[in-house]
Amino acid sequence: MAKSPIVIIGSQRSEVGLSAGMDVLRNGGSALDAVEAAMRRCEDDVDDHYVGTGGLPNAAGVVELDAAVMIGSSRAFGGVGAVRGFPHPISIARRVLEQLPQHCLLVGEGAELFAAEQGFERAELLTDEAARLFRSSLSPANGIGEVPTTPENERYRATALDLVRRFAPHDGPWGTIDILALDAHGELVVGVSTSGFPWKYPGRVGDSALPGAGLYCDARFGAAACTGRGELTMRVTGARMVVDALAAGADPVESCRRMLVEASSVPDQFSSDVRAVCLTPDGRHGAAACKPGATYSVMTDGDAEPAVLQAAVL
Ligand code: ASP
Repeated sequence: MAKSPIVIIGSQRSEVGLSAGMDVLRNGGSALDAVEAAMRRCEDDVDDHYVGTGGLPNAAGVVELDAAVMIGSSRAFGGVGAVRGFPHPISIARRVLEQLPQHCLLVGEGAELFAAEQGFERAELLTDEAARLFRSSLSPANGIGEVPTTPENERYRATALDLVRRFAPHDGPWGTIDILALDAHGELVVGVSTSGFPWKYPGRVGDSALPGAGLYCDARFGAAACTGRGELTMRVTGARMVVDALAAGADPVESCRRMLVEASSVPDQFSSDVRAVCLTPDGRHGAAACKPGATYSVMTDGDAEPAVLQAAVL
């Protein structure tokens, strides 16, 4: 089999981890190992408030993480949703893929039980800074008081829903981290990891844990992943749409754009952006966003560090 170019790309802020992933690829490692190594770096970045340790909490002030991984040649998928207390959900998702082939997705307590049985380390994920951002969103200046902590409580539900309705990305780069890799054997893998929609209702699972919505990968056509308003990419199966467009012969940017056109046509009262990034089996890549300002990052064999590129705007 001819050697493929080795490439690793990712959504905004993935550059924290891409070099670690490229090291794996350069040493002849698999795209799966590369994605996991790169994503673990991102999950450990406490300054990143949308993934792993340091992620923003749900409406009850608890960090709940979603992550998934998909392999292009087999379309094997492993994911976890609403996991608390484990800092590396990407690794738990990989373990679901490898150790529970009869399942694709574990959520909540079951995912945590599986992670504990598999010996994954636990950690406190809510950092002081993330807690401060959460408290400031509750300030009376924003019209929201304290969130009562009993989920059964009527007022809790009302306040949590109010927070969810008011969500808007804070200033600066935000969103789920997507990482897509192509290894020398031509294997394509996509992984995503996120703390999800900040102030989400407890138990909410986003697109990042769902095949076809937040991520999709088929080694014949390409890998794709989404960022932003997960409920929209769930409703249009966004990542699958991008890969279908690649399969139909569209180029990477056009494939992302077609999905964004579809997602934008769905009635939705929340204004958060939707973004997509994709990688083809021959190493071409592209990204698009509904609003200006989004970037994505790319690293190839010859690069000393990731290049940060502008995503196309719808
Ligand atoms: N897609 C993520 C979710 O819906 C959020 C984001 O990327 O901002 O959970």
